[in-house]
Amino acid sequence: DRNGPVYGRVLVKVSGEALMGTEPFGLHWPTIERIAQDLVEAKSTGAEIAVVVGGGNILRGASVAGQGLDRATADHMGMLATVMNALALEKAVEQAGSPARTLSAIPMPTICEPYARQTASRHLTRGRIVLLAGGTGNPYFTTDTGAVLRAAELDCGAVMKATNVDGVYTADPKLDPDARRYERLTHDEALAKDLKVMDAAAFALARESKLPIVVFSIREPGAIAAAIRGEGRSTTVAP
Ligand code: UDP
Repeated sequence: DRNGPVYGRVLVKVSGEALMGTEPFGLHWPTIERIAQDLVEAKSTGAEIAVVVGGGNILRGASVAGQGLDRATADHMGMLATVMNALALEKAVEQAGSPARTLSAIPMPTICEPYARQTASRHLTRGRIVLLAGGTGNPYFTTDTGAVLRAAELDCGAVMKATNVDGVYTADPKLDPDARRYERLTHDEALAKDLKVMDAAAFALARESKLPIVVFSIREPGAIAAAIRGEGRSTTVAP
């Protein structure tokens, strides 16, 4: 059936910056509502939807570390920022019509469930959109690494990386008018051409796990569902 589901389960990476909308910082509720609607629409492709949320709209560990604040503590603060974003997105997803659960890599059981692979899998099987907060739960990592890690352990068919750019380009499209978007790349090609698809740790894990990464822009409404269906503009990095 060519209209059947493309993936059984996918991991959608939503950066913190995507939640800022037009604001310079923090949460822009209309944008969060739109992304939540996109996630609910993405579920209608038939795929189970796990979401790793970033925190860069509130705090990035590497940017605030220094002076009196050590990197590990700054990263702990960054991971807490991702929990705030996940809670906002959870409410917005529920309001958009799908049950949702936030699971945090840093246990904080009075606020949300602690992350466990089995728990996440069970919620997904029951049709809930699962917001995975706290990244990997460890400092010195990013939520991109968290996204690839969770995608691998939850047997997701791909990481759908929602960004502000509609794919991976030969050069920075904002600076170079001749930059061309790749339709498809292997992990090895991306590495050989030094194309920054994700940070090095995240990319190494994706390559090792043979996990496809689909890079697309979240600006257009419905972009997540379109990317899952293989429609719209994107770059697929796959073995
Ligand atoms: N972070 C961390 N470990 C992780 C994931 C995130 O320490 O596994 C911290 C880190 O300080 C990072 C911040 O949380 O800067 C926010 O995550 P990220 O920068 O990945 O968010 P995004 O760029 O996707 O908004």
